[in-house]
Amino acid sequence: MSIKVRVRFKKKQIIVPVRFRRALESEPPALDLPDVDERGFAMGKRETTWGEADIQGAMVAVTTGQTVRVRVVTPDMEGEVNSDDVDAGFPPLFAVSTDPKVAEVVEPTGGGPLPGGIFRLKGVLDTRNRPVSIQIHLGSRDGPIVGELEPHIFNLMPLRCAVHRVEIKGVGPSDSSAQRVATMFEMANAIWRHAGISFSHTIRPNIIRIAEATTAGVVTEGRGQSLSGPNEVSPIVNRQPVPQHINVYLVGKIVVKGKDGQKDIEADGQTFDKTFRGSSINPGILVSETADGQALGHELGHFLSLTHSDRGDGDVEIRKDFWSRRRLMFSNRDDDKPRPAHHADLGYGLNKSGCMITVKHVTTDPNDDEVARARRRAKDPF
Ligand SMILES: [Zn+2]
Repeated sequence: MSIKVRVRFKKKQIIVPVRFRRALESEPPALDLPDVDERGFAMGKRETTWGEADIQGAMVAVTTGQTVRVRVVTPDMEGEVNSDDVDAGFPPLFAVSTDPKVAEVVEPTGGGPLPGGIFRLKGVLDTRNRPVSIQIHLGSRDGPIVGELEPHIFNLMPLRCAVHRVEIKGVGPSDSSAQRVATMFEMANAIWRHAGISFSHTIRPNIIRIAEATTAGVVTEGRGQSLSGPNEVSPIVNRQPVPQHINVYLVGKIVVKGKDGQKDIEADGQTFDKTFRGSSINPGILVSETADGQALGHELGHFLSLTHSDRGDGDVEIRKDFWSRRRLMFSNRDDDKPRPAHHADLGYGLNKSGCMITVKHVTTDPNDDEVARARRRAKDPF
């Protein structure tokens, strides 16, 4: 079988027969499974230090020294290809780096064929103005180029977190064990490693006990607005913050006041970054007992200045498409309709929240450019 394509000469037309994907879709985040930012072929605005490039396609971020897996997906051109053939490396594709001193294809040897479409890519050098492309060639290393991936390599920026256990009127989270905390940080690190940011943590020995509260175990208000009851947030975050650490507080429940008469929201977390104004609240992250590692990763994103992928100024919902949901910074709220069924699997397992941190900067999206923004804040986050 062949495919006929009518090329529109008057308009520029580029046909890319392969796509780049996260190597194992439906698996949870892992250190070697970066999200691939494959949102179209418009490249948006690159950070100035990333260099000018005419590469058109997906981007991926990799930490220096880290080896990750990326999958090349091909449409079934022959109509007869079965999965065994794909596993054996059919069609014969070869992944070749234009600059192995920056990003190197380390497996398979020789760059291809790619078993299951997967190759291993190593981040070698974080450097300025030296764009690199992983080009996919058909048939051999010298065959025609059928697609390209733009990697960006980042040196690891380690950040330290101090984890505090909080009891409000004697009630803390249902689980504040070291095991739960370690599991959450493991997931948050798997999500953030590709952006070249890592989080270590220590659990503070003493428990923060809050005696004044509306409801035992519940943080009821955190915005410093007019309050119906005591504000539990400032006593928590101002009591014993550890300097030069991201202070994370494990609490029972967090109830955020709904705005404009909407009903209150029970939240997995609430973050006050260093730009939070209007009160004397020390920067910190509250994490509720319903939070998992993805929720912690999301709050760490807020701490590093990231905003919700689906929200604009005034917390107004501006989009709720597949892509905004796939992102780590999706608000997980729907102002009107519930999510359609096909949004239940975003690529990390059924009903699992998205974990993608965007590499591209689509200039029409006010919340984009996440890797660069987070790294900028990570230099001076406190
Ligand atoms: Zn959020």
